[in-house]
Amino acid sequence: MTDSTKNTFSRRSMLATLGAGAGLAGLGAVTSAKAADLPSPETVETFDVVVIGTGLAGTVAALEAASSGAKVAIVEKAPENRAGGNSAFSAGIIAMPASQSAGDQDAFLEDFVAKGKGRGNRTVYELMAKAARADVDWLRSHGVEFLPEGTMPPYRIATATTAPGPYMGMPRTLADLRKKITGMGGRFFFDTKAKQLVIDGKGAVSGVRAVGPAGVVELAARSVVITTGGYAGNPQIIAAYSDPNAEAMMVRGIGWATGDGLVLAEEVGAGLRGMGGIMALHIAAVDAVETAAGNPFAALPYCISVNQEGKRFIDESKGYVAHGKAVLAQPGQRASLVFDQQIAELPPSQTTMGTFRRLGIEMAEAATLEELAEKIGVPADALVATVNEFNTSVENGTAPKASPPKAALAGKIETAPFYAFRSLAPGVTLTFGGIMINEKAEVLEADGRVIPGLYAAGEGAGHVFYDDYVGGGSLANCLVMGRIAGREAVAGIR
Ligand SMILES: Cc1cc2nc3c(=O)[nH]c(=O)nc-3n(C[C@H](O)[C@H](O)[C@H](O)COP(=O)(O)OP(=O)(O)OC[C@H]3O[C@@H](n4cnc5c(N)ncnc54)[C@H](O)[C@@H]3O)c2cc1C
Repeated sequence: MTDSTKNTFSRRSMLATLGAGAGLAGLGAVTSAKAADLPSPETVETFDVVVIGTGLAGTVAALEAASSGAKVAIVEKAPENRAGGNSAFSAGIIAMPASQSAGDQDAFLEDFVAKGKGRGNRTVYELMAKAARADVDWLRSHGVEFLPEGTMPPYRIATATTAPGPYMGMPRTLADLRKKITGMGGRFFFDTKAKQLVIDGKGAVSGVRAVGPAGVVELAARSVVITTGGYAGNPQIIAAYSDPNAEAMMVRGIGWATGDGLVLAEEVGAGLRGMGGIMALHIAAVDAVETAAGNPFAALPYCISVNQEGKRFIDESKGYVAHGKAVLAQPGQRASLVFDQQIAELPPSQTTMGTFRRLGIEMAEAATLEELAEKIGVPADALVATVNEFNTSVENGTAPKASPPKAALAGKIETAPFYAFRSLAPGVTLTFGGIMINEKAEVLEADGRVIPGLYAAGEGAGHVFYDDYVGGGSLANCLVMGRIAGREAVAGIR
């Protein structure tokens, strides 16, 4: 299936001169991840498909390609014991339609479209609606275990969470899948950073130049799949495109989600989309010490959120992305989620409280609201007034029209003891903008032209989300588009 890779050359210098890509200067001007021109390596190893990155998107792309008999190499800049990217850090929740019925697929699609204010990538949502459930079953067929199916109110979706539970299942899942890939002849190159794409005389991408423990290596291939994740760990890109205060935001996942794939793709002419505005980030309000799993997202819609002045500022039922972005605009960029014993007994609160206890994150608990106010550092009279006003609106049935409203899941806060997940800070979970691709995961130039031999999937591709997303949507995107990329990367060769 593979060609020799004579006459390869890098277009980086030419493109840098032309200032190709998004913005006037392109990502190269804003990121320290910019690729350097590399000397020709001593040896060139030849594969059918090279996948860059071992997150969920890269892992399923490699598995799909290897399953069809292709000779696959996977390049990962992390050492083997840190493989898996943000996927390994994640809660492992995958969104899927509640069933394969047309009605449930439509409900899934509508929830995603609405959440992205109609500006998310509808093509990808349609592919997710059609394939996410079946792709979860495909993972099962490869030995991946899930908890019993869940739901995520108020969305009309089902969730598949990797066993043994949130924030615990993904490292094992990914490690097991890597073993499968190795068993099918796939070769992993850990500690090896992709620095440049190689272009052949026909203008097709024909390999990757990377730097690993033995120095510069070239992995020649007929298809290259970029699955390097997003740019949450690159404040330069965030500041340039989204928010000048990027340095002040916490990074919830791995620091090396630095947008490398966006840079690599842009250097060979790929278009980027959806990079602009704070809308292009997923910000959750999280525990400032345990930023990864310290996100009380399941309990949030049932609680009220108060800022440091003890006042509500957002409809909590809008979910954790809208909430996190709203916290960015609050004094001191901190908020606490207040709830009572009745809310504490609901299963979503129990799940969150269980996770916090497991991680040793302290929650505030008090016999009175005044005492709780002291523990979370807000004025007692303000917190009492906020809770009274909120309870009255629930009693009168006016919560959906209150200021701020609570459109769903409003319940009175009146039964002691009172609790709070406290001093939550905004942290970037994932980034929404990325490399332009089509429904086959082929990488596109800004004018829609396909770059032959180059595919991309996962968080850094497809500008899938805008403003907000439905929980579990990112891993669903990685799974569905990762599989498509792996399949199409092989089909493209044949
Ligand atoms: C704490 C947390 C919890 C989350 N929970 C969920 C959840 O439950 N459900 C959900 O849908 N989403 C969740 N997300 C988001 C989701 O985890 C990510 O969007 C998704 O895992 C991204 O997967 P990916 O395969 O695109 O990239 P990643 O999983 O980030 O993998 C990219 C890989 O590429 C490697 N790489 C990067 N550059 C190079 C290079 N130049 N050369 C070689 N390798 C390179 C990286 O080291 C990394 O291993 C969560 C995120 C965080 C941070």
